[in-house]
Amino acid sequence: MPKISLLKIVESTTVDGPGIRTSIYCAGCVNGCKGCHNPQSWAIENGIRTDIDDIVKAIRNDESHGVTFSGGDPMLQASAFTELARRIHNELHLNIWCYTGYTFEEILNDEAKKALMAEVDVIVDGRFVIELKNEDLLFRGSSNQRILDAKKSLKLGKPVEFNYNPFPEFELLSDHHA
Ligand code: SF4
Repeated sequence: MPKISLLKIVESTTVDGPGIRTSIYCAGCVNGCKGCHNPQSWAIENGIRTDIDDIVKAIRNDESHGVTFSGGDPMLQASAFTELARRIHNELHLNIWCYTGYTFEEILNDEAKKALMAEVDVIVDGRFVIELKNEDLLFRGSSNQRILDAKKSLKLGKPVEFNYNPFPEFELLSDHHA
C-alpha cells in the first residue's frame, strides 16, 4: 500500500473548509508560488512517510465533520491520496476538500490527478497569486483560486463552483417564503 509523505495532521480545525475538520498537510510541492505560506512544505523529503491506515485512524479519532487535504500539494502524491480518499468515504463517510496549486484544466490533462479529483467532494484550485491576495475571501488565499464541486465539474468537463452557504438556515427561510 502506498504511503503519504506527511507534514502534520491538524485536528478540529475550522479554517480549511466548512465545519470542524481534520486537515492532512502533506509534504511536496513544485508550484513555487511567490509568497507561499509554507515553503518548508516544498521538499517531499521534509515529510514523514506515513501509512494510510495510521492517517485513517487519526481522522476517526478526531470525530470531525469533514477532512481537508492540503500541503504542500496533495496532487503530487495523487495515487496515495486517492486511496486515502476512498477509505475516508467508504469507512468514515466524511466529506473531503482538497487544496491544490494545479488548476482544474491542468488536472483534466493528468489521469492520476483526475482520479484523485474524482474521489473528493470539493477542489480549491490554482496557485496562490500574491498580487490577487484577499484576506476577505473564504477558504482561499487569492481571488484566482476557485472552490469547485469536484464531481459536477468532472461530469460536465468545465469548472462548476461549489455552492457553499455558511448560513443554511437563511436559505431555508427564503425558500419557505418564496
Ligand atoms: S501550491 Fe500552496 S504550498 Fe505550493 S507553493 Fe503554492 S501556496 Fe505554496
